[in-house]
Amino acid sequence: MTTVDRIHQLREQLHKYNYAYYVEDKHLISDFEFDQLLKELQGLEAQHPELYDSNSPSMRVGGSVTKNFQTVTHNERMYSLDNTYSAEELGDWLKRIEKINGAPITSFTCELKFDGASINMTYVNGELQKAVTRGDGSQGDDVTANVKTIQNVPLKLSGDYPQVFDIRGEIILPLAGFEALNEKRVAAGEEPYRNPRNTASGSLKLQDSSETARRPLECFFYALSGDLTYTSHWESLSKARSWGFTVPKSMEQLSSLDELLEYIDRWGKQRAKLPFEIDGVVIKVNSIEEQETLGFTAKSPRWAISYKYKAEQVSTRLNSVSYQVGRTGAITPVANLEPVQLSGTIVKRASLHNADQIEKLNLRLGDYVYVEKGGEIIPKIMGFDPMRRGDLADTIHYITHCPDCTAPLHRIEGEAQHYCTNETFCPTQIIGKMQHFVGRKAMDIEGIGGETIALLYHQGLVKNIADLYRLQKEQLLPLERMAEKSVDNLLAGVLASKRQPFHKVLFGLGIRHVGETVAKRLTQHFGSIDRLMKSNAEDLLAVDDIGEKIVESLHAYFMHPDNIQMIEDLRAYGLSLEAEKIVHASSVFEGKTIVVSGVFEHKSRNELKKIIEENGGKVGSSISSKTSFVLAGDSMGPSKKEKANKLEIPLISESAFYEML
Ligand code: AMP
Ligand code: ZN
Repeated sequence: MTTVDRIHQLREQLHKYNYAYYVEDKHLISDFEFDQLLKELQGLEAQHPELYDSNSPSMRVGGSVTKNFQTVTHNERMYSLDNTYSAEELGDWLKRIEKINGAPITSFTCELKFDGASINMTYVNGELQKAVTRGDGSQGDDVTANVKTIQNVPLKLSGDYPQVFDIRGEIILPLAGFEALNEKRVAAGEEPYRNPRNTASGSLKLQDSSETARRPLECFFYALSGDLTYTSHWESLSKARSWGFTVPKSMEQLSSLDELLEYIDRWGKQRAKLPFEIDGVVIKVNSIEEQETLGFTAKSPRWAISYKYKAEQVSTRLNSVSYQVGRTGAITPVANLEPVQLSGTIVKRASLHNADQIEKLNLRLGDYVYVEKGGEIIPKIMGFDPMRRGDLADTIHYITHCPDCTAPLHRIEGEAQHYCTNETFCPTQIIGKMQHFVGRKAMDIEGIGGETIALLYHQGLVKNIADLYRLQKEQLLPLERMAEKSVDNLLAGVLASKRQPFHKVLFGLGIRHVGETVAKRLTQHFGSIDRLMKSNAEDLLAVDDIGEKIVESLHAYFMHPDNIQMIEDLRAYGLSLEAEKIVHASSVFEGKTIVVSGVFEHKSRNELKKIIEENGGKVGSSISSKTSFVLAGDSMGPSKKEKANKLEIPLISESAFYEML
């Protein structure tokens, strides 16, 4: 078999195995064998770039980087759904549409309302061409590269698919995957994600598609559109299933209001046991003809409606309130509850967010409170039962001092959160800051997790970030769970982190409100920590994305002598506190502005411009009195030549240019 044939064969096989595994839940080969075949394909594809296929199974591992997602207009608008919350409302909807229809409606499909990110995909000749987010309904972002990494999204179809069509679905992150992701984040000292839905949509907007590939996303498909001939929604989705799309088996075809209510009731009970989140059920008129008669309102189709489940609520006793300190010193009050069963899990704690929230809820200790599980994993307190009220003596007094270090708390005007003022010595803050520093998005120090940091701190080995760079092997070996190999790993990780670029160091410092993007903006703009420290409010506000809050926070940070000392220590240990400069190959063009014009023999215009910049020159866009010389290739425009002559600006040929170098 020729290599070309082998590539085709591997692609076909891998598509087939993938489909069997992710859509039909059949294991045709072992994971190991699958990986072997995939590796073989990747190897062969690397040797044969001319056989590139944008829908090869190798695309699922990702690897492309998208800086800006392109805005794309949807072929057909992505509507919202109207909501109902009760059997009466649903009955009213049915009456309303039967009236418009002029005849009883006797066929519906019922589907689960998956809680994720909606997506529209265009397939042309059986291949995925484009995947676009819902956006504002008429325009969304092109996230094709990321969507291709989702294992159950078919890249190639089989069967009698139409040449061109759109299909819609919901991309979800199953609960198990969500929890595993959060465990890893917490271990790396990062904030956990709030809920699977936001995490799913966030995953679609990651710049690095191999990052998306690592998230166990899935797509459930629920609507087909285009120039199609199917007479019912059911038929079109059954077809889609046969071409390779995951159309969930929970979809049913039903014929009366009673049956709809039974479906709603049944899934309402099963909901807590599902491996992913749903927030209701979607009911659609089955006949396409009736759908066309019913049409759309400005916001939603008249032929579909969602039935939203009420969030499950239970009442339980509020035993006490405790206060957590975050790495930036932010205080979060947490309600400790009498353990109670709610939507399939036992709830013991609920977030109270901040002092305002407690005041608004007007809670007392001993109150029976209503707890609800909304979109967030941590349940919320919705109110209390006035019939079972705690004593006035049990009014909750918000703490005034840090529960950890006893320093006084401070609340900035206009902000809801209280903060511990002891930024340099509050143990929780210090540990939190160090955990943030070693985290993946900051210094990404391998060999140190959140627990190790806590251990090192409690052993008195590190008091701040800089201390990490002072650690010695002999200090670490006696610690529990620190075998020689893990110590070596840890030290190697610390050493390697010295090579991290300035923006990661700046982000890693954990300055309040200075997230990844802000850190990048600041490094780009100021170039070094010294210039950043010297900047005043006006300089800072001139930078994109920088507002008053950040300015205040930066100044407060740099005012603190301990912080300055720590930065000096980091400098002494060789961390980068300057943005990388462009390496100047030479400085022959220092102070010169050069215009590049025409066509060149040996190098492209862009390559030449790069050479100019690498050698200290500036590239001018048009000829002016400031131009030092024109690098002139063939067929340079006559008007440009004239202008250069008039201003007495020399024309330099390509070969003369190389000689200058
Ligand atoms: P809403 O955002 O509440 O207006 O509901 C509309 C959204 O529900 C759509 O944009 C889809 O993302 C989502 N959805 C989830 N499951 C389904 C389904 N089975 N059929 C239609 N839409 C669904
Ligand atoms: Zn404190």
